[in-house]
Amino acid sequence: AGKVEFRDVHFSYDPNRKILKGVSFEVPAGKTVAIVGPSGAGKSTISRLLFRFYDIQSGAVLIDGQDVRDVTQESLRAAIGMVPQDTVLFNDTIAYNIRYGRVGASEEEVRKAAELAQIGSFIERLPDGYRSMVGERGLKLSGGEKQRVAIARTILKAPPILMLDEATSALDSHTEQEIQAALDLVSRGRTTIVIAHRLSTVITADEIIVLKDGQIAERGTHAELMLKH
Ligand code: ADP
Ligand code: ADP
Repeated sequence: AGKVEFRDVHFSYDPNRKILKGVSFEVPAGKTVAIVGPSGAGKSTISRLLFRFYDIQSGAVLIDGQDVRDVTQESLRAAIGMVPQDTVLFNDTIAYNIRYGRVGASEEEVRKAAELAQIGSFIERLPDGYRSMVGERGLKLSGGEKQRVAIARTILKAPPILMLDEATSALDSHTEQEIQAALDLVSRGRTTIVIAHRLSTVITADEIIVLKDGQIAERGTHAELMLKH
């Protein structure tokens, strides 16, 4: 389960300016589709429409053949895991921040997820900028560590669909590779939409869609797109 479809989607935030101009693509269950393109092309808008933060003007967004307009916000949130560019952590322990992925998960499950994401050693600490009731300062987390918290959260949640919106773009290239490897593990077997700036970061996607000015300019595997350029 977890097939995602955009069918001739037209969308604008305000009536004078079209953002998506007939976007159609399909992500078969368990496959990975990457959406690349310049800033402002409409990539993040696609992610917001999958969550139905906004209603489209025409076309349809479907999950397993069901129009997202007929799905509750709660079910959408449960079905889709999101790793954004910058993960914002709540004023509570890292463990609590991970448990947010599946409220009701046991301590053991949280610890396991943290270990898989390689942040098992500091999950009882608060994040940077916060202070505990006994005055202990929050732990300063690097960008990569924050993304690992988001990854642990997603491991715990185990959603059928994964949305990675520039999840590694704020990291230095060494950390980017490490986090990319962790994300590859999490996305295995899940329907995954990767939003990225550059082709070079999405080499293994089953299909790459190049979005320009709200339209699909090109599509194909990485090898196919490289041949054309
Ligand atoms: P990308 O992710 O490819 O950089 P976005 O989907 O974020 O592009 O944005 C596409 C266009 O829509 C941009 O020009 C952006 O300024 C505009 N936009 C994004 N969000 C809003 C909004 N809430 N209201 C109006 N315009 C928006
Ligand atoms: P990013 O691509 O880093 O996600 P965006 O440009 O999409 O950043 O926008 C960040 C936030 O600001 C989004 O929540 C979006 O709704 C809002 N936003 C972006 N562009 C506009 C705009 N032109 N008018 C109003 N809100 C906007």
